[in-house]
Amino acid sequence: MLRFAPSPTGDMHIGNLRVAIFNYIVARQRDERFIVRIEDTDKERNIEGKDREILEILQLVGIRYDEVYHQSHNLTIHQHMAIKMLEERKAFACFCSPEELDAQREAAKESKVAYRYSGKCEMLSDAEVLANEKPFTIRIKKPSNEVKFRDLIKGELSFAPDDIDSFVIMRADKSPTYNFACAVDDMIHDISLVIRGEDHVSNTPKQIHIRNLLGYDKEISYAHLPIILNEEGKKMSKRDAASSVKWLFEEGFLPEAIANYLILLGNKTPEEIFTLEEAIGWFDLEKISRAAAKFDLDKLRFINREHMKRMDPKELSRAFGFADAAIGELAKCYLEEGSTIKEIKPKIEAVFSAKPFDSEWGEQMKRLQEALEKAPILESFDELKEYLSKETGLKGKNFFKPLRLLLTGAEHGPELSHLYRHLKSYLMEIIK
Ligand code: GLU
Repeated sequence: MLRFAPSPTGDMHIGNLRVAIFNYIVARQRDERFIVRIEDTDKERNIEGKDREILEILQLVGIRYDEVYHQSHNLTIHQHMAIKMLEERKAFACFCSPEELDAQREAAKESKVAYRYSGKCEMLSDAEVLANEKPFTIRIKKPSNEVKFRDLIKGELSFAPDDIDSFVIMRADKSPTYNFACAVDDMIHDISLVIRGEDHVSNTPKQIHIRNLLGYDKEISYAHLPIILNEEGKKMSKRDAASSVKWLFEEGFLPEAIANYLILLGNKTPEEIFTLEEAIGWFDLEKISRAAAKFDLDKLRFINREHMKRMDPKELSRAFGFADAAIGELAKCYLEEGSTIKEIKPKIEAVFSAKPFDSEWGEQMKRLQEALEKAPILESFDELKEYLSKETGLKGKNFFKPLRLLLTGAEHGPELSHLYRHLKSYLMEIIK
């Protein structure tokens, strides 16, 4: 079983969507189940409604899952596991106050050494623990040996006991920490492979250590994806608008183009333009580059244009408020001038808007309009041209400029002969 485990703490980052896509593809390739686990145990950071937003994004991108659950539902399981560790003396109660720990962290920072837990509460006797009325956290004891694993992208990795440290698994309010809840849930859901962002590499030995102490001996494979850099070469953060999937949708990028781009990023693929379904046929997780990938909005724009070109025209027309293949085809004529829904929308709106009869071409436009109102059905642009020039006597620029304004609401644009075949059935509506 594979899983996607987002935290509902903000807008979905493109790095997270990439993780979701890769997990989904590999689950489909291996014919394994795929679940979504909303990691909502950090109550202070959760944002109401973000879980729904994440699921909506997955649906738009075409990621289907077998099950979705909120991690907080497993709270009693996490608590039982922590108690078991206490009983087996694999973990201990820690009464160090947040102020005390902060001071130690600060001191370590000043002396330029990595902070490690002092070990103060590890040796407390049962009697001392019982006699202490203060709130306590539960800390796991650090391992005595190195923890090693082979990452499918990064290769062999090894962590010293001190780097893992005696870390907190249950907070003072008795909610599990991220590492504990994650390690336990991956165990109870029989996860076979974890694909996630590189920022979690140092959590992996901690999670392996937790499961080792719980006596779980099945090995889980890991693949940590390199980070995504912004166009300045820095880690893409919330400050980069393009890091938010929601922002990309608002800018008029298609879900299928975003998925295509995220699969292509830092990867060797047999094609450049493809669908998620097609990628399932050839995707190879181990081909993902170890180096960080750089986000390139222009490349995404190019991919978006290609997907708009290929899109079923009727489907495309829905983005502009129609359900008519002709409008989808009309939108495609504008792909030279725009590469997103947002950029093409004003072009389609201009076609259907009230036309500028008070402009310098107003008088000629009026003549063309009157002639068109009385016109028979004109199938081709040649027929339209012939009929209108005969009826109005207009020629050259005096004919084409006002005709373009009347038909498209713009002075410049794609060839009228290309546009006409798609807008002719709306002619009476357009020339108003
Ligand atoms: N909830 C974590 C995150 O959103 C992911 C943890 C994981 O995949 O293990 O970064």
